[in-house]
Amino acid sequence: MRWGDFRRSDNVEDRGDDGSSGGGFPGGGGIKLTGGAIVIVVIASLLFGADPLQMLGMLTGDGGQAPAPPQSAPPGYGPAPARPAVRDETKEMVARVLGDTEDVWGAVFKGLGSRYDPPKLILFRGATQSACGRASAAVGPFYCSADREVYLDTAFFNDLTKRFGAPGDFAQAYVVAHEVGHHVQNLMGIMGQYDKAAQRTDARGRNALSVRLELQADCFAGVWGHYAQRRNLLEPGDVEEGLRAAAAVGDDRIQQATQGRVAPESFTHGSAQQRTHWFRVGLDSGDVRNCDTFAARTP
Ligand SMILES: [Zn+2]
Repeated sequence: MRWGDFRRSDNVEDRGDDGSSGGGFPGGGGIKLTGGAIVIVVIASLLFGADPLQMLGMLTGDGGQAPAPPQSAPPGYGPAPARPAVRDETKEMVARVLGDTEDVWGAVFKGLGSRYDPPKLILFRGATQSACGRASAAVGPFYCSADREVYLDTAFFNDLTKRFGAPGDFAQAYVVAHEVGHHVQNLMGIMGQYDKAAQRTDARGRNALSVRLELQADCFAGVWGHYAQRRNLLEPGDVEEGLRAAAAVGDDRIQQATQGRVAPESFTHGSAQQRTHWFRVGLDSGDVRNCDTFAARTP
């Protein structure tokens, strides 16, 4: 992934290490929710007014490629951490991937006649506070809909490489893009609808809804990847890296590894097959209308 060519986001805050790092990560990313609105509805009704690629300044066909110019690197993101613990290169990569999600979703929203209000991304090591409660390494990366912030302990990237067998920068970019996908769901009102519907059903129903929400975030991550690919910012092997990561955090893989058995009714994020499928749908089509996991009979 040519992440050095992505525009660096200003929306990264590095909170450093609180001294409690070293926890393990059991699950597969997540979301934390607060109050919401109505019934799960569809993005099928959304219309694309314009090609997001054009709005990214990347004309299709023979219009030529115009990747964002590399920018010089002012040091630091937000307040200085008590103890810098996040490797600079990782921080830089995350900031640039986030920047590119801002550009892509900005263009997609503009095409929908709307405006993309980007999330903030909090880097931390160990634990930190969020409006959704305490964030710790044990929770894994998550999006908090109450403060509209993505929380990422970059130790998770080590887990992704070593425990989940999914190394590579695009695997890590997939994790960031998935959490940003939850923010997109929040802006589109899907998360509020999900929240309301989840309150009206039992535990099993909630798990099933959660799977659809997570698979949609995977599909949205794929939509971002689609536009990165169309602008020649991916390298050979990147797509495979991303698909490997999506499979690695499948509930069946994690349950098999941690419990030695698989209980599909307890899935909250979807199986390896489902996660790679929906990531691929977004990646291949680049069209959010194809990401309606709530309409699919079996996601
Ligand atoms: Zn998620």
